Amino acid sequence: MLWIETPSNPLLNITDLEMVADVANENQLLTIADNTFPSPYFLRPIEYGIDLVLHSTTKYINGHSDVIGGAIVTTTEELADKVHFLLNGMGINAAPFDSWLILRGLKTLPLRMKKHAENAMIIAEFLCDHPKVSEVFYGSHIPSRA
Ligand SMILES: *Cc1c(COP(=O)(O)O)cnc(C)c1O
Repeated sequence: MLWIETPSNPLLNITDLEMVADVANENQLLTIADNTFPSPYFLRPIEYGIDLVLHSTTKYINGHSDVIGGAIVTTTEELADKVHFLLNGMGINAAPFDSWLILRGLKTLPLRMKKHAENAMIIAEFLCDHPKVSEVFYGSHIPSRA
């Protein structure tokens, strides 16, 4: 299995998802992408050939800091059945109320992600121009203008 995270936490390195999927296919490996940072609003790794997508629903997806959870998105019935078997066997399915809280958060995900990105860009640009800052990491390495 190739397990990747893009952008990576905490340095925000970007991984070429199609390249990862190609390498995995050539070597009969499954791929899984931790998509917690971009959320499905900014990135849907399945569209680039990734087999499984993992989300912490604790953060952006829920958005209200009142639940801990996760989600696994799969591409095929076969993978979905395997994931369901493991979740059922381990007893780690989300409780109904937690699921409701996460669904509530999903409804405002696009609005929140758009604003998060706008605010983060303002901060990144401010830091780029700051004389005491030598490097800024925002989606990729941004050399300081200072
Ligand atoms: C926080 C985080 C997780 C773990 O999420 P929890 O719901 O807090 O366990 C996984 N992946 C990434 C990229 C994260 O930032």
